[in-house]
Amino acid sequence: MTKAILLAAALSLLSTRAPAQNLPADKEASIRADLTGQIDAMKKQVQVMVDNVFSFGELGFQEFETSKYLTGLLEKEGFKIERGVAGIPTAFVATWGQGKPVIALGSDIDDIPQASQKPGVAYHAPLLDGAPGHGEGHNSGMPLNITAALAVKKVMEREHLQGTIKLWPGVAEEQLGTKAYYVRAGMFKDVDVVLFAHVGDNFRVAAGPGNQTGLVSIEYTFKGETAHAAGAPWRGRSALDAVELMDVGWNFRREHIRPGSRIHYVITNGGDQPNVVPSNATVWYYYREADYQHVMDLWKIGDDMAQAAGLMTGTTVTSRLLGSAWPGHFNLPIAEAMYQNMGKVGLPVWSEADQALAKGLQHELKVPERGLAAKIPELRRPQPPADDDNGIGPIGGGSDDIGDVSWVVPTVTLNYPSNIPGGPGHNWANGVSMATPIAHKGVVAGAKVQALTMLDIVLHPELVQKAWDYFRDVQTRNTKYQSFLRPGDQPAIWLNQKIMEEYRPKMKALYYDPSKYDTYLEQLGIQYPTVK
Ligand SMILES: [Zn+2]
Repeated sequence: MTKAILLAAALSLLSTRAPAQNLPADKEASIRADLTGQIDAMKKQVQVMVDNVFSFGELGFQEFETSKYLTGLLEKEGFKIERGVAGIPTAFVATWGQGKPVIALGSDIDDIPQASQKPGVAYHAPLLDGAPGHGEGHNSGMPLNITAALAVKKVMEREHLQGTIKLWPGVAEEQLGTKAYYVRAGMFKDVDVVLFAHVGDNFRVAAGPGNQTGLVSIEYTFKGETAHAAGAPWRGRSALDAVELMDVGWNFRREHIRPGSRIHYVITNGGDQPNVVPSNATVWYYYREADYQHVMDLWKIGDDMAQAAGLMTGTTVTSRLLGSAWPGHFNLPIAEAMYQNMGKVGLPVWSEADQALAKGLQHELKVPERGLAAKIPELRRPQPPADDDNGIGPIGGGSDDIGDVSWVVPTVTLNYPSNIPGGPGHNWANGVSMATPIAHKGVVAGAKVQALTMLDIVLHPELVQKAWDYFRDVQTRNTKYQSFLRPGDQPAIWLNQKIMEEYRPKMKALYYDPSKYDTYLEQLGIQYPTVK
């Protein structure tokens, strides 16, 4: 080739690349190294944030201390805060920067009932008996996002890079309570990519559908008539009978629905005392299935069952929706970029003490004593649809209302290694590591992956283009999002209020005080690790 042709080829290559922010490779490499170095320098800040939120231990919709603390941090760093978004008091959006791309970082902040646990102790030892606690690890995700956001912001300011960073909390994720409302309120209208973070026991990222179920959470309240339960029971109409018959109905029906369906309930009101026929009773159901239509089918069966139980008992029934979630579908190009970054960052270096805590807990739980994550698993690629000739459908599993978000904007979930493998989930055991060096190291490593992925998006507009191509041409080609929410549905912001009123005064005495103690473990006087 002549020089002229070479020059023309080079020019055409330049002009077909997206404009703006692609930098020379060596410049980009030095920015990336600087970014991860900055996050290493934020270790202390990470520990303080993770320990603080752990000590607040707030249930869904009641995350007032957590929300105040996180928005306070972000406000001080120059983020503009919008509070009470979508009519949810503890929800917020924190925004910094301007123009495209718009990257929104989310993570859940609520915890689990009765999961109170002393961190660093490898057996069941509540901090406060019966109190809620971070028995999943939702205390770590927003600290991770804040760390990543602050480091990326610094780089963007210094290098004069354009873009907008938004942070938002998953309020009441355990109730699947808010993200569909965020979508309805238009929170993601101008967002290019959502990077969600959720605690795990290793680095993981998935693309495509198939690892979460969809769900509706419905509360049924029956009304009957009180009477003396011994003196004149024939004059009463028992709402509790209706609840029990509805539950019996479902428990017989289970065998005749797809095996992958998951239906569970708790009776939140079963009456006052045995000598009064209960005139009010409430049962709360989760209906989980693989897709929108199958969830709707379960909801219809449930409503029929409630009507039938009312007819059998001469009571009336009303219902309300307390939460919902679409099954997630995660973006392949962004997941690939994130997976590359996981490989570059690598797993944390665990100490002997970290491994001793992990193995001590695994021994206690009678699961294989393998210690902490040792190898990053493969990227979970989109799975081909399962052979479904018998209409069996995929087999159950959990839900996360990030699913709704994933259907309106390209989204991925970053799982990061802050937890000990082998826990049952939603249990004190999953809280053991969550205010210890294991969680802190996992968050530092996770923040690097998040920050590097943000940088990929800021510096490479073609990645955003690919993400939207996948979203439009693959993900939403045949499936269109339609919310489970009906126009009249409102966020169930009263949930957990009573429990928190009971425990918060006692929990306040246990809030982490970083001005007096280096770590929360030190404040609690816990030897790390404490193993039987
Ligand atoms: Zn969760």
